[in-house]
Amino acid sequence: MFQFDSDLPSALERRGISRRTFLGFCAAMTATLALPPRFIPRVQAALEGADRPILIWREFQDCAGNTESLLRSSHPAIADIVLELFSLEYHETVMAGAGKQAEAAMEKVIQEQKGKYLAVIEGAIPMGQGGVFCTVGGRTALDIARQVCSNAAATIAVGACAWDGGLVRGAPNPTEAVGVQEAVPGIKVVNLGGCPHNAANTVAVLVHYLTFKELPALDQYGRPLFAYGNIIHDQCERRAHYDAGRFVEEWGDEGHRKGWCLYKMGCKGPQTNYNCPRVGWNDGTSWPVKSGHGCIGCAGPRFWDTMDPFYNRLPNVPGFGADVTAGQVGLGITAATALAFGAHGVASAVRAQVRPKEAVEKPDANKLPAETPAIQATEEKPE
Ligand code: SF4
Ligand code: SF4
Repeated sequence: MFQFDSDLPSALERRGISRRTFLGFCAAMTATLALPPRFIPRVQAALEGADRPILIWREFQDCAGNTESLLRSSHPAIADIVLELFSLEYHETVMAGAGKQAEAAMEKVIQEQKGKYLAVIEGAIPMGQGGVFCTVGGRTALDIARQVCSNAAATIAVGACAWDGGLVRGAPNPTEAVGVQEAVPGIKVVNLGGCPHNAANTVAVLVHYLTFKELPALDQYGRPLFAYGNIIHDQCERRAHYDAGRFVEEWGDEGHRKGWCLYKMGCKGPQTNYNCPRVGWNDGTSWPVKSGHGCIGCAGPRFWDTMDPFYNRLPNVPGFGADVTAGQVGLGITAATALAFGAHGVASAVRAQVRPKEAVEKPDANKLPAETPAIQATEEKPE
């Protein structure tokens, strides 16, 4: 569907992307993957020599927010570089073809590139009444997902809805929507939760695949550890204020103007694993907490149900009673972290944070994740 040059550098140049920008992209991807700088030349060489794997990107019950998140990335020109690195053979929002022609092109890829192409899924998949609540080209999303994902080398689920059903699955979930790993069990899948996903992480997964010929290491939810391996709270620039007991008490107060901690305003950073503070949003210029709003936990499992109400403070921060003050929580966390690191070393402490004991729940479209009681936001007012 798209025409590509065989030579990546000249193809990028034709798109107005300079070599300096491309090298900056390689450095940024290496950093996003949490690899040391010595891997930059390897990433660069791999991308320049890549055979341009084929991508099939399917949208189901979605808002196209994850597509927008990718296409609106501009520094570096992630979308342009991805369009040159991969042969994007199907994507409803950006492809030129339509109707039977587009469906035939996808069918051709599945038949001729079986086990070689990558599937990207955006949006939830309804299971109710045989899947009739979402159809494309006369076929149900469930039928399409089964065919596209089962024949792919791997599937990448972008956004909360494709991961675990997201907003679409929220109670009462009349369409019985689920994420792709539940709709099509047994496939190899990378889940990139978030509402929307951060395109830098998605591209980093693709770059990892091209560079190392395999998918990155995943956590128990199938999420890449380089992006979901640490809690936001441990990476946050407001953390010193949390530890010191300096909290925003109401929007616009002195603490808010001074950039103090947003924990009392409902910030879910202590219960959310993601790399927003490190990678940032809007071309890496900022991220929600930096701009003055608490994290709502969009990268967490079933966050629309488990993190709501978004403006109530988290109770039961692990290791502490529900009735301790926010200041005590901050000091306690510091002590607990020091103990954990002293006893087991940095690596085991991080593993303990990112690998809760609970296993991933399998299809029951309306059941909440096992850890929900621990992260359910409280109805009580901030102290
Ligand atoms: S509670 Fe939120 S604002 Fe405060 S330090 Fe943690 S992540 Fe940052
Ligand atoms: S700061 Fe929290 S709510 Fe905002 S994008 Fe990151 S994980 Fe999602």
